[in-house]
Amino acid sequence: NKVLVNDQLMERQEAKVDIEDRGYQFGDGIYEVIRIYSGSMFTGKEHIDRLFESAKKIHLELPFSEEILTKKLQELMEVNQLQTGIIYLQVTRGASPRQHHFPDNDVKAVFTAYTKEVPRPEKQMTEGVTAIVADDIRWLRCDIKSLNLLGNLLAKQEAMSKGSYEAVLHRDSTVTEGSSSNIFIIKNDELRTHPATNLILNGITRREILRLCSDIGLSYKEEAFTLDEMYKADEVFMASTTAEVMPLVQVGDTVVGDRTPGKWTKELQKAFLGAIQQQCGE
Ligand code: PLP
Repeated sequence: NKVLVNDQLMERQEAKVDIEDRGYQFGDGIYEVIRIYSGSMFTGKEHIDRLFESAKKIHLELPFSEEILTKKLQELMEVNQLQTGIIYLQVTRGASPRQHHFPDNDVKAVFTAYTKEVPRPEKQMTEGVTAIVADDIRWLRCDIKSLNLLGNLLAKQEAMSKGSYEAVLHRDSTVTEGSSSNIFIIKNDELRTHPATNLILNGITRREILRLCSDIGLSYKEEAFTLDEMYKADEVFMASTTAEVMPLVQVGDTVVGDRTPGKWTKELQKAFLGAIQQQCGE
């Protein structure tokens, strides 16, 4: 399998990162994960746009245009003959002697990308999964898709160690998002999710779901909800690039509905699959 380092395609074993790369030392960089279905990118443009937005927010100059990046990712996907999986890409502020302030302009950003086969999580999507609830201890710029993920990792690890799939994060009992997903509730035929503020990552899957709500006739509000409102909801689900529309059948100690995926959640899964087939064929 080939990988990309800046504009070069190479074998993974040949790829090298400097030990003073700022991504490695500080997490000073940004990333994206793009889903591939039937050998095509799903919402690729939205992910690449978001990468450029994240870059701007941390004053990082990307070493290529959106067009060139798209072309390079296309090449990578094709040479690896990826059918169903993901492309992971990241950009760091480059390698320079360790110091907190940014290096001079002659230090160039370092781009890396690779592909990985990842099946759709069909069993989990059909049966639903469980989540724990955890304090959102992260910083206040969760809108940036930054490499700094320790707060997310600690929450996910706690979920894993308790046999759960995800951690639902909250600040003072207001649900923000999952450790690597956005969280949605449905109550009385209305969907709610946290608004796209600095406290969450505005997921590409989240945006797609809100678009699909209109298609299937489900009204929605981008309005924060509390843990208590989540416990009393008819349906709860999480969403991300890799997990798609993933039903949560238990959050913390509370069983959601009858512990099976809810009717609107299933409708959204169906509509989401429709969007995949429309964009990526089948
Ligand atoms: N929120 C966080 C913290 C994430 O890490 C992710 C994705 O990994 C998401 C939300 C969902 O974003 P997307 O739908 O763009 O994958």
